Amino acid sequence: MTQKVEEQVKEIAQLHDERFDNLAHISQLNDELSKLTSQLEYMREQFDIMNTESTRSKKMFKHSNEHQIKKRSNSWVCDHCKGKGHIRPYCFKLHDELKQPQQKPFKKI
Ligand SMILES: [Zn+2]
Repeated sequence: MTQKVEEQVKEIAQLHDERFDNLAHISQLNDELSKLTSQLEYMREQFDIMNTESTRSKKMFKHSNEHQIKKRSNSWVCDHCKGKGHIRPYCFKLHDELKQPQQKPFKKI
């Protein structure tokens, strides 16, 4: 009877050791995982850079479109003042701040 108990105690101690080994293994795996995560992060960055490049070329395309719109704006005629080169929403006669941007009222506290 006593011998059986001793055997069980030994077994428990062995399991304890195994558990310790497993924990060490887990922390090792965790290290590997963090390494892989940083690698993934790096790859993601590279991908972002590639993405930014393609976005930049798209932006350049958009820019040329804006240029075309600007050209067209030369033929705009204002409904409000009949002036050329702008339309009513941008009319400086409706918006004084567009006419004299430098002379903003200075507020004294
Ligand atoms: Zn106008």
